[in-house]
Amino acid sequence: MLKHPSNHRAGRDALALDPRFGIEGLVIPRHTLPEDEVPPEAAYQIIHDELMLDGNARLNVATFVTTWMDPQADRLMAECADKNMIDKDEYPQTAELEMRCVSILSKLWNAPDATQATGCSTTGSSEAAMLAGLALKRRWQKRRRAAGAPADRPNLVMGINVQVCWEKFAAYWDVEMRLVPMEGDRLHLSAEEAVRHCDENTIGVVAVLGSTFDGSYEPVEEICRALDEYQQRTGIDVPVHVDGASGAFVAPFVDPDLVWDFRLPRVASINASGHKYGLVYPGVGWVVWRDPEALPEELIFWVNYLGDDMPTFALNFSRPGAQVVAQYYNFLRLGHAGYRRVQAYSREVATRLADRIAELGPFQLLTRGDELPVLAFQVDPRIDNFTVFDVSGALRERGWQVPAYRFPKNREDLSALRVVVRRGFTHDLADMLIDDLKRQLPRLEKQHAPQHDGATAGSFHH
Ligand SMILES: *Cc1c(COP(=O)(O)O)cnc(C)c1O
Repeated sequence: MLKHPSNHRAGRDALALDPRFGIEGLVIPRHTLPEDEVPPEAAYQIIHDELMLDGNARLNVATFVTTWMDPQADRLMAECADKNMIDKDEYPQTAELEMRCVSILSKLWNAPDATQATGCSTTGSSEAAMLAGLALKRRWQKRRRAAGAPADRPNLVMGINVQVCWEKFAAYWDVEMRLVPMEGDRLHLSAEEAVRHCDENTIGVVAVLGSTFDGSYEPVEEICRALDEYQQRTGIDVPVHVDGASGAFVAPFVDPDLVWDFRLPRVASINASGHKYGLVYPGVGWVVWRDPEALPEELIFWVNYLGDDMPTFALNFSRPGAQVVAQYYNFLRLGHAGYRRVQAYSREVATRLADRIAELGPFQLLTRGDELPVLAFQVDPRIDNFTVFDVSGALRERGWQVPAYRFPKNREDLSALRVVVRRGFTHDLADMLIDDLKRQLPRLEKQHAPQHDGATAGSFHH
């Protein structure tokens, strides 16, 4: 296990039970397995009470991950808590629902032939990114070997704003990461820079639909067009993977005219987080390939299914089935119109919140919630007595979790706050957030100097 410093503080290793639970005098250790049993009510109460210190998930506007579902979905998930996704033969109907979801997504993202839908559920976009990246790497290796060319130095091109899962992919599977830095007002990948970083060893370009830093869409269509020209000029064919962790569940519903998906022949695969704007609690992601040719056969494994075999592609073996069932519940329950209403409402809340933040005075918007329903804003650079980190701390006093973070190369000068609006974050909650911001600002404005400069602010991954 990874060592956590607080685990090793001397003298704090025991947990004394409050006599209220009727187990007077019992002392149980925190970090070693207790000698004996504890009654279930007491065990429940202890853990329940400890968890009160966790933040309130609904006030966590740092996360993209779903924090509200229909109570009926809660019930279905509880009913499926004991089902293992890999037991296709034992739970064939859960496997069937997974296949229906892949087919629904394949069609939603305009794959050329949805009857040939090729894809799978994963634990999230991170696992999906590993699988999509592996497929790109394997296809490139096969092309190179067939051409008698060396296949030992693959690289993957992307903007520096990519989520940390792509750094993991590169580190775990020995692929050079070609990160395009930010420049001036350009806070994500451009077509020109993408092409400039490609060569014959490029296994693909990752375009992000919905940058985690500011919610902006990368120009997928332009990137594809620029790579078409690059191929004409050099003969090098570079596929594109779209990391649509958030946007692949947003754009199809509220930006139907935006062309970012399999309508672009260069897009080989798309991932999305079912547990973000797919509106399911944490634990599900999706990856879909444009057609069976985009997924090399050697990566596929076969498991029993209704007396036959069924293809699977995954890093995990056992995995909970409840989230996949909940994803299907959302598709069935909301349909196209329901998803459109949910995402349009989030966008409406986000853009209105952005306008009101801009009106407060000391803030400047980087994005206004009109792509992903996410807004990022900075403190006016002329203000020198408080920082975004002070604002984040001040909001925390009221329970709001609004992250402040520093941007990467070449915009390390820029620090911002980010609010992620998602299902369950209403105009009413947004009003309360604005009220709290207004209540805290006079104190911050009277400060002589910043209290937090963010020097210790962690890098930022969600
Ligand atoms: C959240 C996110 C990821 C990682 O997704 P998980 O589902 O949390 O594993 C990857 N890429 C982007 C753009 C994201 O927003």
